[in-house]
Amino acid sequence: DLPVLLGEETSNLTVGVRVRPLIMREQNDTAVVTVVSVDGCEIKVICESGISYRFTYDHCFWSCDPHHPRYASQDVVFTTMVQPLIDKAFLGYNACLFAYGQTGSGKSYSMMGMDIEIGNTIGKEAGIIPRFCYELFERVASLGDSNVGATKCTSNTANVEISYFEIYNEKIHDLLGGSSDGGKRTPLKVREHPVFGPYVVDLSVHGVTSYEDLQGWLTVGNSQRATAATGMNEKSSRSHSIFSIILAQTQEETVEGGECHKHCLCSKINLVDLAGSERLSHSCTTGDRLREGVSINRSLLTLGKVIAALADNGNGKKKSFVPYRDSVLTWLLRRKPSTGKYFLKEIQWLFEQALVPGQNNITSQPAIYP
Ligand code: ADP
Repeated sequence: DLPVLLGEETSNLTVGVRVRPLIMREQNDTAVVTVVSVDGCEIKVICESGISYRFTYDHCFWSCDPHHPRYASQDVVFTTMVQPLIDKAFLGYNACLFAYGQTGSGKSYSMMGMDIEIGNTIGKEAGIIPRFCYELFERVASLGDSNVGATKCTSNTANVEISYFEIYNEKIHDLLGGSSDGGKRTPLKVREHPVFGPYVVDLSVHGVTSYEDLQGWLTVGNSQRATAATGMNEKSSRSHSIFSIILAQTQEETVEGGECHKHCLCSKINLVDLAGSERLSHSCTTGDRLREGVSINRSLLTLGKVIAALADNGNGKKKSFVPYRDSVLTWLLRRKPSTGKYFLKEIQWLFEQALVPGQNNITSQPAIYP
């Protein structure tokens, strides 16, 4: 798993393709024609020569025409691709979701979308990240005294923490902490904890208690990303952004005899908007652009290799080496080392690190988490 790619019950990895509508510029360009169509779980591409190719995925979303009977709105994409991850998160699994594609293919629209800030509800055009968080808090509110998983609980509470950072040229910038001076922020370092695995040193982590709270942080992070992009010529399309949510559920169970047992179920969800997957044009093969291109290529290539190696290992083939350390992105998304042995230590550490609910200021203490 990377850290754990979860989707359908039968598979740890689910892949969906989304076709976006032509944007205004493309509509006005007579040379632009639609060569893609969706047929169930198949995408059909017709080439200029007339030859057509078919590719099969777990899900294909046609988002071109709202009047089409199988039009995939933000809500449909969320319900199909992401809701299963929330179910798993509440059962204590980690999950990771990537948006991959060329610049302009609709990654940010799918991940963040529009109208994320409309009070305590969700807008029609809001994307995966705000929808995920909205649903998370809806479910947290309904936890209370309930049965969760196999445990009969007398009390069940949850603590939600978030962080939001970007990786540009293999360097990490916190989008929710520090200064808002665009691209000049000091990059953060990655270290490896012997128990909890790789982490970003001094990354700010924020406790959030409601969806409205979270909207505020999303706005801060998105504007920091946009500021940096203006200063560095559309940098956002050449950086990866990682929005992480940690859900820590504490379940108290009173057993016969009145003894109280406490369990902690912790899951981490990474929602990643990857850098544009386009190839570098030949005119951009010097200086900063070359460096950018090399790091994007390196991290996307490594991501591909890591997923392929994990798939091979999962298929029971000969164990292949998983090159997590070849890029910052894959190194950070790597699952922490085996936790069984350290379970009690881990819980103790989680409690020590827990933020005071409602205290949503930027944390001054070193924010390290598994
Ligand atoms: P990327 O993040 O891959 O560079 P964007 O998300 O910025 O691409 O999308 C490019 C443009 O296409 C934006 O103007 C966006 O609003 C529009 N767009 C993308 N996907 C959709 C969609 N499913 N429905 C309507 N507009 C979309």
